[in-house]
Amino acid sequence: MDTPTLNKVVRCLKREIQKWKVPAVGVIAEAAIDRPFETLVSTILSLRTKDAVTEAASHRLLARAPTPEILSSLSIQEIEHLIYPVGFYHTKARNLLKTCRILLQSYRGKIPRSMDELLDLPGVGRKTANLVLTIGFGDYGICVDTHVHRISNLWGYVKTKTPEETEFALRKKLPRRHWKTFNDILVTFGQNLCVPVSPWCSKCPVAGYCPRVGLKRSR
Ligand code: SF4
Repeated sequence: MDTPTLNKVVRCLKREIQKWKVPAVGVIAEAAIDRPFETLVSTILSLRTKDAVTEAASHRLLARAPTPEILSSLSIQEIEHLIYPVGFYHTKARNLLKTCRILLQSYRGKIPRSMDELLDLPGVGRKTANLVLTIGFGDYGICVDTHVHRISNLWGYVKTKTPEETEFALRKKLPRRHWKTFNDILVTFGQNLCVPVSPWCSKCPVAGYCPRVGLKRSR
């Protein structure tokens, strides 16, 4: 798929996804534009966790601890209690506490605005860092998770083996105007129609543009 075709596909999917629920991080992030701490916390909680669970846990934790100062004053047990049952809640509670202490010691309680500094925080990978930069700060970045990686390869827009390779490939060729929305569109599409293993190609509004690279099974 070339870039002019991708532009058409993105335009079509933007309309299409309106009928589906936006992923939890998208929902929280929309409410947290320009509040990078909230984006950071909700994204850390979202890893390997269902959207509804992430959403509820983020609201509980951020209602009790809306700043790094307050969160760092809580005990691990209290944080665990507030975020349970998110996946790996014990590790996430520890990482959140360590992250908030680093924020207080090194950044006067603020969230750093660079990829390298964000990646140094415990529990923060490229996906989280990109979301904090794009949603929390309004900067440019491309957040690549498994859906973005998988679908970009199915479309033949990139030819990559890992989400990280996909991020760098997209940074080279994806028009900048799509950077901030690409993740929301592809995650919503990937959760509802272009699902892993056996996507619903027979119902797909962009099937005519999709070369289905490497696809073994579809419905
Ligand atoms: S045609 Fe199938 S593989 Fe291609 S985007 Fe649509 S659902 Fe996904």
